[in-house]
Amino acid sequence: MQKAIEIKNLQYKYSRDEEEIIAIYNMSLDIYEGEFVGIIGHNGSGKSTLAKLINGIIMPTAGDIFVYGMNTKDEEKIWEIRQKAGIVFQNPDNQIVATIVEEDVAFGPENLGVEPGEIRRRVDDSLEIVRMSEFKDRKPHQLSGGQKQRIAIAGILAMEPRCIIFDEATAMLDPSGREEVLECIKQLNKENHTTVVYITHYMEEIVDADRIIVLNQGDILMQGSPKEIFARVEELQEVFLDVPNITHLAYELKKEGLAIPDGILTVDELVENLCQFN
Ligand code: ADP
Ligand code: MG
Repeated sequence: MQKAIEIKNLQYKYSRDEEEIIAIYNMSLDIYEGEFVGIIGHNGSGKSTLAKLINGIIMPTAGDIFVYGMNTKDEEKIWEIRQKAGIVFQNPDNQIVATIVEEDVAFGPENLGVEPGEIRRRVDDSLEIVRMSEFKDRKPHQLSGGQKQRIAIAGILAMEPRCIIFDEATAMLDPSGREEVLECIKQLNKENHTTVVYITHYMEEIVDADRIIVLNQGDILMQGSPKEIFARVEELQEVFLDVPNITHLAYELKKEGLAIPDGILTVDELVENLCQFN
């Protein structure tokens, strides 16, 4: 399998006044082409710093990051890196630059020097993927949070990235907006095989990720399948993380003495296990 992102002995320090804050300690990690990787961790665990490092917005203090083989420290490659690995942030209002939806989506490819006919095609295709074609002439400020975030995603898609990093991209949305955006991301991963690095604090959103990585104080605390990670309820609680509600319910029932396996992820799984007792 081809590596989309290769992180080697990465360290990152912020300097504020006289003080140094180590946000990432000696981290090594590979993310493969087509993978859907969920990243969780308490506030301040280094998630956003990692996202910015992958996108070349900030540079490692030590170690290296390769995006499709290109070192983020290579200044000549920085635009290609940002085109291949796009990033979607928490607040859609900070990412929308134009006053009309389709102009906003065209902004990225225009800056990449893509020719006009090709820009038109990409804008139409991207809006179609996020199901916002009928809003192409609207003003972004007239849209809901979920719709704006889908426009921000279309803007990234128009650059034809191979990988997209979502840094709590659903955090400011209401439940229906969250669902719209997540569905669209899952579809991109399944149908276009876009590599997805999905940072979230909603555990439910990553129950079907290929892999979950848990960060704590700038380090990888654990990684594994959703089933493996969410089976470790108590260890997660120690670093102030939850598990999905249904996993928690199953965990409590097991503590009460019911023979239920660890790491239940869906209602169906729990029901199946409970029905065995009849
Ligand atoms: P997360 O996204 O997981 O909440 P961050 O990557 O934002 O974590 O932060 C990691 C650590 O780096 C925290 O201790 C945070 O206070 C510190 N940090 C983040 N941004 C800055 C900054 N601009 N200046 C100084 N310290 C920062
Ligand atoms: Mg953050």
